[in-house]
Amino acid sequence: MGIGDLEVRTVPDPRIVQPHDAILRVRLTTTCGSDLHVVAGYVPTMREGDVLGHEYMGEVVEVGPETTRVRPGDRVVVPSFLACGRCWYCDDGLASLCDNTNPKPELQEPLLGYPTGAIPGYSHAFGGLAGSHAEYIRVPHADANCFGIPESVTDEQALFLSDAIPTGYMGADFCSIHPGDTVAVWGCRGVGLMALRSALLMGAGRVVGIDRFPERLALAGALGAETIDYSRTDSVLERLRELTGGRGPDACVEAVGMEAHGTGPQYLYDRLKQALRLHTDRGSALREAALACRKGGTLAILGVYGVIDKFPLGVILSKGLIVRSALQYAQRYMEPMMEHVREGALDPTPLITHRLSLEDSPRGYEMFKRKEGGCVRVVFEP
Ligand SMILES: [Zn+2]
Ligand SMILES: [Zn+2]
Repeated sequence: MGIGDLEVRTVPDPRIVQPHDAILRVRLTTTCGSDLHVVAGYVPTMREGDVLGHEYMGEVVEVGPETTRVRPGDRVVVPSFLACGRCWYCDDGLASLCDNTNPKPELQEPLLGYPTGAIPGYSHAFGGLAGSHAEYIRVPHADANCFGIPESVTDEQALFLSDAIPTGYMGADFCSIHPGDTVAVWGCRGVGLMALRSALLMGAGRVVGIDRFPERLALAGALGAETIDYSRTDSVLERLRELTGGRGPDACVEAVGMEAHGTGPQYLYDRLKQALRLHTDRGSALREAALACRKGGTLAILGVYGVIDKFPLGVILSKGLIVRSALQYAQRYMEPMMEHVREGALDPTPLITHRLSLEDSPRGYEMFKRKEGGCVRVVFEP
């Protein structure tokens, strides 16, 4: 499967299936780097006719009899991972690990041991639920997943509370930031940029964004980060060493994932193995982050990975790094995130570089993949 296989079709409108459902009219939905992994076939188990999209906000148009906290007419945002709100994991604030929302756990169990929760529009292994690049979407367990949007928060801002902000915010939280800490972030797309901004809000003294695209580095700079263009720097490690008085960043956040671009022989080795399907990931950013981190520091892994070799376990062990990782816990952080957005401290709107109708979405994916016209995020309006 590739971007050329994407097409816009008329599909049946979703209906209430479970008493805890809600139906949303999608007002805005966006592309995400991990959608490209799905489209490229690195996340298997997509099927002909599946509806993509897991980042969205909209208006509730119908609710099932057990849905009590949201009403038709409510303007809401829904985290990409669906929680049931009542299992052992949801109780602990670990929404993406929910035991109940993924209706096809058998597809994940052989690989993971225990399945994750569901994400709509993100393959059958993640539940096979229809995604948000559509006029309407069904949201199971609506009470646990639909979050009301205050009037002063725009549709555009709320949209990013479904995935990019919570993933970045969680990454910053994983860094257990002490006042004045230095946090370096690999990858300045949506998630990386939100991690940089969140780290500052949590008290970091300085944050450093690492990427090679000028438009992304400019966005990082505008959010208050120092930047390193790795394509124009001999050694990112050296540069970070200089910035931190020789000690290295206190925390390193990897927000690139399995399609990392890099330089040098390691990158070529990764590319070749990935092309031969010997492993699914290229991990150059992850290894660099582990090397750059100060001894005893934190390595937060937010990029999406499948199977990777040369995982820098020796580096992690020898330097006593704390490794934290997860597929976002938006429900846990929604209250403080919404407050930061409402008061203007966390504003994701500069991420939107392109806006298209849903009819033009295949072209939007192409632009997003090729970074055409400085594309960071494309927003679709159904
Ligand atoms: Zn996403
Ligand atoms: Zn649950």
